[in-house]
Amino acid sequence: MVAASSSSALRIVLLGPPGSGKGTQAGTVAESLGVSAISTGEMLREAVAAGSPLGLRVNEIMAAGELVDDETMADVVRERLAAEDAQKGFVLDGYPRTLSQAATLQEILDRSGKRLDAVVQIDVPESELVNRVLGRHRADDTEEVIRQRLAVYHEQTEPLIAFYREGSLLRDVDGHQSIEEVAKSIRDALGGEG
Ligand code: ADP
Repeated sequence: MVAASSSSALRIVLLGPPGSGKGTQAGTVAESLGVSAISTGEMLREAVAAGSPLGLRVNEIMAAGELVDDETMADVVRERLAAEDAQKGFVLDGYPRTLSQAATLQEILDRSGKRLDAVVQIDVPESELVNRVLGRHRADDTEEVIRQRLAVYHEQTEPLIAFYREGSLLRDVDGHQSIEEVAKSIRDALGGEG
């Protein structure tokens, strides 16, 4: 069960490799919880499309399937989590992606006396991931870049699973099911609050 914190705001992180369906599920879960879905990948893609200073800085890094540096991401997330709509809770998709980012997130929340309620890990077999992402046709979705993003995921992001499991925040969900079934599994994993 996810115990609602004093303010009843729910703060959830979705964790999973590229192609795991995080983005889709973040929207659905956020809607049913009545909180904002915050996707750092989407925020960065918007910055690139707008040609903002941030966008210009991260464009090549994203196109190569590498991670944007932790300091830049800390600024992006700090600002986004300070926005009015994030005060009622959030589903965070795409952050944290490194142990250092997890520490930063904890620090940002600590400062305002808040905490995460749960981290949902969406598990999908590797063979399925590449096929799914290739079917998506996004600019950063060539096979070479996908393989790079998967390698980065295993190396930098996967350690977060153990980190959050240790903090008893982790909920595992089988992502190798239909979109509706994954959504239901996430709701169940959140103890019916979703
Ligand atoms: P995915 O398909 O891997 O879920 P996202 O849409 O979450 O992709 O992110 C796309 C790209 O944006 C990443 O490959 C990375 O370059 C950049 N990015 C997004 N979030 C972060 C983050 N927290 N730290 C570093 N880079 C990030």
